Amino acid sequence: LFAGETEFLKGVVAMSGLPPSDRIEVCFAGRSNVGKSSLINALTGRKGLARASNTPGRTQEINFFTAGAEHYLVDLPGYGYANAPVAVVEKWQKLLKQYLSGRQNLRRAFVLIDARHGIKKVDEEILSLLDSSAVTFQCVLTKSDKVKAADREKILQQVREKLSKHPAAFPEIILTSSEKGDGIPTLRATIATLI
Ligand code: GDP
Repeated sequence: LFAGETEFLKGVVAMSGLPPSDRIEVCFAGRSNVGKSSLINALTGRKGLARASNTPGRTQEINFFTAGAEHYLVDLPGYGYANAPVAVVEKWQKLLKQYLSGRQNLRRAFVLIDARHGIKKVDEEILSLLDSSAVTFQCVLTKSDKVKAADREKILQQVREKLSKHPAAFPEIILTSSEKGDGIPTLRATIATLI
């Protein structure tokens, strides 16, 4: 599935631009700077595939990647920018809501959470949106290399507790480091079971 066959397809700014829902897909969401681009690149083994979220023009789009001939990987716009204009934020939220509530071929959302910080208020918004859209989501903790092994259980416990309040949450949490490669095979295997 990920053996060098993932290609950028298109960036979408409106529902009318979505590719046909004829392929199974999974999507990735996360606060800006959480390590989403790095994770997608690590997952696909393609370094420049997903660009860092500060790349102008790519930030507000839903980016579609084709994985083989039959699947899409979907990179949702990063959220939680400190100085994003209200109008811009509202536009994303509308598109995000429309996408999440209307996409039948979407199998799961992977919500990326910084392993150092756990689930924050800014993340709760998307988790609630996923609940109300009835999209099963799974948490992926990023940058695990920045957390001492002794502190990881505490973070996992915090995340587990917060997830227990979300009906759409899949209980298993995947701990990853794009830098070290930890957890990447587990995430890949999880996606493979879905699609
Ligand atoms: P995005 O905004 O969510 O796409 O985040 P990026 O992938 O651009 O990463 C944001 C910053 O975090 C960059 O400086 C990355 O080098 C760093 N980063 C991403 N993943 C990891 C990781 O697994 N470990 C460490 N230590 N840093 C990471």
